[in-house]
Amino acid sequence: MTVVIDRTRSPHDAGGSARAAGPVSAAARARQQASKGGGELYKPRAQIYPKRVNGRWRMVKWALMGVMLAIYYITPWIRWHRPGALPDQAVLVDFDGGRFYFFWIQLWPQEVYFITGLLVMAALALFLTTSIFGRLWCGYACPQTVWTDLFMMVERRFEGDRNARMKLDAAPWSLEKAWRKLGKHAVWLGIAFGTGGAWIFYFHDAPTLIRTFWIGQGAMTAYVSCALLTAATYVMAGAMREQVCTYMCPWPRIQGAMLDKHSLQVTYRYDRAEPRGPHKKGQTWEGRGDCIDCNQCVVVCPMGIDIRDGAQLECINCGLCVDACDEMMLKVGRPTGLIAYDTDAAVLDRAEGRKPIYRFIRSRTIFYTVALAVISGLMIWGLSNRSPVEAHALRDRNPTFVRLRDGSIRDGYTLKVANRAFEDRDYRVTVTGIPGARVWTPGSRGGGPVRIHVPANEVTALRVFVTAPPAGLNAASQPLTFRLTAPQASVEVKSVFLSGAANVSD
Ligand code: SF4
Ligand code: SF4
Repeated sequence: MTVVIDRTRSPHDAGGSARAAGPVSAAARARQQASKGGGELYKPRAQIYPKRVNGRWRMVKWALMGVMLAIYYITPWIRWHRPGALPDQAVLVDFDGGRFYFFWIQLWPQEVYFITGLLVMAALALFLTTSIFGRLWCGYACPQTVWTDLFMMVERRFEGDRNARMKLDAAPWSLEKAWRKLGKHAVWLGIAFGTGGAWIFYFHDAPTLIRTFWIGQGAMTAYVSCALLTAATYVMAGAMREQVCTYMCPWPRIQGAMLDKHSLQVTYRYDRAEPRGPHKKGQTWEGRGDCIDCNQCVVVCPMGIDIRDGAQLECINCGLCVDACDEMMLKVGRPTGLIAYDTDAAVLDRAEGRKPIYRFIRSRTIFYTVALAVISGLMIWGLSNRSPVEAHALRDRNPTFVRLRDGSIRDGYTLKVANRAFEDRDYRVTVTGIPGARVWTPGSRGGGPVRIHVPANEVTALRVFVTAPPAGLNAASQPLTFRLTAPQASVEVKSVFLSGAANVSD
């Protein structure tokens, strides 16, 4: 018999087995309500009361949540010594100074391509992990998931687990209900404010801002950003929750292009689960599947769906239904893994009596890996070969040149030198390309070497003249090179020397 996997329908429906009556998922309840309402434009939201679950994946989620929250809150407080008056915050987006600091790396606005490269790398890494492991990002690392988990933990502290919360919501207002609800929202607001507050420290010196913020002397952008992020965290993690993933986030739609039948996803192994039905202690397991229709996989789901209906756009692959089902399997003495991280292809293989084959190396994973390696290599090469100095020569436009009394030609330039190093630099300026040409600064009367001092992390401009004797000029426009030499590094700047269309020797 050939089993066809239809990921939009329940596998047991496709197989024709009867489904026992029982509690339905929140998504299914919402569908039912919508159909009763005669086709309203928007589907009504069914409140989801996820039940607490213990297990392997829940532990992984708690651990990752702790790590990620710690990274987010602690990072702005890490100090990193830089010389002079440079900020000592390890990670800082300094809009005022036009710099991005990341530990030993310092990026200037004109180096924004490094940020672009970093974003491309992050996107490719996400594509690669999604095509192999499914929506790992959504289930474990996405800020929406992490903060919603945190808010749910607070909710349980005040209102109890699923049944207690449902009872509390259905109960009339009382003093107890009021303090539980007020307490929950107060802690939510505190966390939301802490989230918004931590965010603004990435854009200002954190120890300074925490002092000035409370006395009303912080930057206006800090107050506005903090207020916006506080509101966004409170609303998205406290009130909207699964609706953000289902309706607002584009990723669930995009990730469909990265997934195929060999991608690991949280999967209901219908090959051993169906036909399902209640099971009493002592009853035989012959002629039936392992699913006892206990509905525990549904009540723990933070998205309010039933994984037994197959892969769904709402499923964030958090693995909580895996933990819930494993717990039930252990209770009834059946092997765990009825719901597990598995592939469609492997389930189909088992259903048809073949040994499952897992193919993690596929054309799409090879493509993502190669693209990621190339971009990473370019980024590393670019960062390690990045010049600490950048110089430009801006030629005077008016007058384009001046003929001096002795017949020589003088052009004016402004040299702009950006010193990206963490130390001051002194450059000696010379010119090459035109025989007999020399460079000098206005006011120096042409004598002495030309020097330019560029403080660390700053841009300095210097106006210079270049004078060339007629004997060295053979065209109206000739290439000219400024050479800036310092003990630490040298740099060359290409420019042109104009001497007029008329023959310079007349
Ligand atoms: S179906 Fe399972 S994996 Fe998917 S969101 Fe619900 S609990 Fe998480
Ligand atoms: S938790 Fe497992 S046994 Fe219970 S309904 Fe879900 S799949 Fe079936």
